[in-house]
Amino acid sequence: MANQSGPVCRLCRREGAKLYLKGQKCITNCVFDKRSGLLPGQHGLARRRKASDYGIQLRAKQRARRLYGVLETQFQHYFERAERSDGVTGTVLLQHLERRLDNVVYRLGFAASRREGRQLVTHRHFMVNGRTVNVPSAQVRPGDVIEVREKSRKMLPVENAQNLLANRSVPDWLSLDATALKGTVVRLPERQEMEQAVDEQLIVEYYSR
Ligand code: SF4
Repeated sequence: MANQSGPVCRLCRREGAKLYLKGQKCITNCVFDKRSGLLPGQHGLARRRKASDYGIQLRAKQRARRLYGVLETQFQHYFERAERSDGVTGTVLLQHLERRLDNVVYRLGFAASRREGRQLVTHRHFMVNGRTVNVPSAQVRPGDVIEVREKSRKMLPVENAQNLLANRSVPDWLSLDATALKGTVVRLPERQEMEQAVDEQLIVEYYSR
């Protein structure tokens, strides 16, 4: 299954922002603050050039792609589906990204990061509507029930992530039964409930060139 690979902290440095790709470590042991003005590389190259409009749009697209851990082809596929929809293209694009199973697992607090959510889903630790699903990109719909499989309930990553939920809440478009380790998709997410670090208008401009 395709995935973004390699050191993830350099992706934050590349985007000039903390993308929180490593869960707990991003809070307790983040290198970004020390090197935020530097591009990736052994010694780090200080940022100098003023970005063009294209460069700004490209970075917005790359940031969204990296936040959600999606490869280029799949991201473009989401954009094309959003463009064909009746809704606002940028909002529908973000909804496709938010409705990915790995993201929902993260949002429900079953994983400390989307990256960890992807790994847990791939390792068959979750059921959707009573059936095991191991496809991180699977799209959930309103009414879907996501739960940790019985034999996976004592897993350390899930317990750690639940503790982390004390610092971030479950968004209103999802509901969580923390005791049963079960979540329900109540409705589609609204813009303010999705990733604030993404500028979807710039992404639409990027693909409309
Ligand atoms: Fe980014 Fe997390 Fe690495 Fe900090 S620790 S640079 S937020 S991935």
